[in-house]
Amino acid sequence: MRILIVEDDSLLADSLVTSLKQAGYAADLARNGQDADYMLSQQSYDLTVLDLGLPRMDGFQVLRRLRERKSLAPVLILTARDSLEDRVKGLDLGADDYMAKPFELPELEARIRALLRRSNWGNSELVSLGGLSFDVPGRRVYCAGRVLDLPARELGIFEVLLQRAGKVVSKEQLLESLYGWEAETGDNAIEVYVHRLRKKLEGSGVTIATVRGLGYLMDAQKPC
Ligand code: CA
Repeated sequence: MRILIVEDDSLLADSLVTSLKQAGYAADLARNGQDADYMLSQQSYDLTVLDLGLPRMDGFQVLRRLRERKSLAPVLILTARDSLEDRVKGLDLGADDYMAKPFELPELEARIRALLRRSNWGNSELVSLGGLSFDVPGRRVYCAGRVLDLPARELGIFEVLLQRAGKVVSKEQLLESLYGWEAETGDNAIEVYVHRLRKKLEGSGVTIATVRGLGYLMDAQKPC
């Protein structure tokens, strides 16, 4: 999952990026509205945490331009401005949630999880493919009643492939969803994670095919 943090307070911005990375997200940072607008126009983020008072372009305008580009990705406004008017304006412009500073990090993380869950999985609590079930809120994968032991990166890849089951996902998409723009890891890391994931999925009726030159495709095995 790839998150953009838009925040001009360096201390807060850095601590948000660090804690989101620790929680297993790829987190990019924009320190002003113009950079945020550019990054959002170039990349698709799964979620944006947006400050309102920003240099060069304010958060409302960043949000307006994002929605004008028909992006439906969730936006959580995080700001010191806490007037009712601002809150209403933000929600009217298409924000999905609103938190006032100062805030508690665990609450922000819980709200991020809830927004991502809703936008990626709709209202489903359990997604099944072949002999696998994925417990969406708990982020656990079950095979024949057993929980599969998937470390953060493998779980991240599993989620992206499952969301797009039956469709090809490129290595670049996987890399970006795991590491963001600062990705220094090459394609090889993705190959290693996919290899490990495949081994763990053996016997589950779910396969990950390599589509040469294009990427990977997760699907339920068809009976012959
Ligand atoms: Ca600010």
